[in-house]
Amino acid sequence: MAVLSTFKFFESKRLMELLIKMKNLIRNSVYRSYRTQLLINNEWVNAATHKTFPTLDPSNEQKIADVQRAGDEDLDKAVMAAKQAFEHGPWRRTTARERGQMLYKLADLIEANADELAKLETLDNGKPISDSKNVDVPLTASTYRYYAGLADKVQGKTIPIDGPFFCYSRYEPIGVVGQIIPWNFPLALQSWKLGPALAAGNTVVMKPAEQTPLSALKVGELIVEAGFPPGVVNLLPGFGDVGAALSIHPEVDKIAFTGSTEVGKLIAKNSGERNLKRVTLELGGKSPNIILDDADVDQAIKQSQIGLYFNQGQCCIAGSRLFVHERIYDAFVEKSVECSRSRKLGDPFDEATQQGPQVDKTQFDRIMSYIEKGKAEGAKLCTGGVRWGNKGYYIEPTVFSDVTDEMTIAKEEIFGPVMSIMKFKDMDEVIKRANATHYGLGAGVVTKDLEKALHLVNALRVGTVYVNCYDVLQCNTPFGGYKDSGVGKELGEDAIYSYLESKTVIMKKDKMTLP
Ligand code: NAP
Ligand code: MG
Repeated sequence: MAVLSTFKFFESKRLMELLIKMKNLIRNSVYRSYRTQLLINNEWVNAATHKTFPTLDPSNEQKIADVQRAGDEDLDKAVMAAKQAFEHGPWRRTTARERGQMLYKLADLIEANADELAKLETLDNGKPISDSKNVDVPLTASTYRYYAGLADKVQGKTIPIDGPFFCYSRYEPIGVVGQIIPWNFPLALQSWKLGPALAAGNTVVMKPAEQTPLSALKVGELIVEAGFPPGVVNLLPGFGDVGAALSIHPEVDKIAFTGSTEVGKLIAKNSGERNLKRVTLELGGKSPNIILDDADVDQAIKQSQIGLYFNQGQCCIAGSRLFVHERIYDAFVEKSVECSRSRKLGDPFDEATQQGPQVDKTQFDRIMSYIEKGKAEGAKLCTGGVRWGNKGYYIEPTVFSDVTDEMTIAKEEIFGPVMSIMKFKDMDEVIKRANATHYGLGAGVVTKDLEKALHLVNALRVGTVYVNCYDVLQCNTPFGGYKDSGVGKELGEDAIYSYLESKTVIMKKDKMTLP
């Protein structure tokens, strides 16, 4: 009898494993149209290194595909293709309106392929399909469309200088732009970089993150289809070594990077080494989210849950330092725990799933080590703090209360579903504590008092402040950090000017005319 039930147990386990394998096979076979090669000069090629790297599905830790790994030789070829396209190709002679038309076509193609792109993003990154469909893909299409429209709205000035001169300014593209993007919003962050760079008339060599190369490469296919000439966009999947080489390369005129502050600092240093590149950096954060005592607790809970848990907590602007007024602190902690426990974790392809796995094992381990530090340093673990399930890089929504400013979890970017709740007494104190960080990306404020809201808005040393909302982000809202959270802005009108040089022209006139 015991033998039979053991046999049955193993049979059902094997059956389950077989079923999971079949499900993965079917899931992966749906996306057979993805690319795994490098895009150089509008051709799909293998890496000169003859090396590949696996990209994984973080929900089950299984390999999706082997992707070509770019090296130095590939980088040189891509940079030369971009330089040739910038200096001699048809691209340099396109009008702003023509570049806009190509970007409109790309936005249309993103929308026509929305379903496939959303699934590819979820497969490679692990984010819930409802987010990929409703947030990432629409934001990507709208960003390309916004910069399509902005392309022919860049205007110089006439400048009334003294003497018989006619003086005006005009904007020109910078040249070859190197772009390095991370894995948390692969499609959207690709559009934040490509949209303004191409509208401005530059050519691009881009390195997608090693964890999530697939959607960026699929967009490469659409870029070729949209009619961008050879060499205008080159895509080099690979590791940080290619990113480092790109930031040093003497033929690259500008570097744009999104990722950690640590790597951002390296890039800033590298980009001044052989030539003086223009640099924009969108880096990490430890954003304060301040809940005043007049706040409606339910609204504050809603805002803070979105602000922390969206995208599995993998957001640079996550409201990861929650400052709650002492009068409502206990009620706030209690409701936060309740709401955190009710979040639905699961298969990212299930439409009802709210939280998927973290992107990879490195991130999973990093977050778990922060949780351990939180416990060791005396924060109170109210819920979560452990792995969810036994397959995939899932972490239970985690809430720490009684967090103090000097604890590691209150100072360092965790980039995961870990909420740290702190108590404060008055406005001056909370402003001082909120600003006591080397980061300055974003902040949140929840209050019904307009005066207090405005006071906080002006006092906080950050690039974006959300009042009674969080994570509201659209293609026309400039986004970027103060202090060590970055240099320059992405999105909005600001971003296109970071991809342009301004030229001053002074022409002598024969006679003095009316001023
Ligand atoms: P990261 O190291 O900053 O990587 C971001 C990108 O830079 C990747 O494409 C990476 O390539 C590349 N890279 C790595 N070293 C480089 C170098 N020396 N020169 C040029 N490029 C280089 O970020 P991560 O390791 O993926 O994540 C670590 C932490 O960074 C996270 O936990 C989070 O705190 C933060 N982060 C912030 C953002 C954001 O949106 N601001 C996004 C992602 C991560 P590989 O793919 O080979 O690493
Ligand atoms: Mg992956």
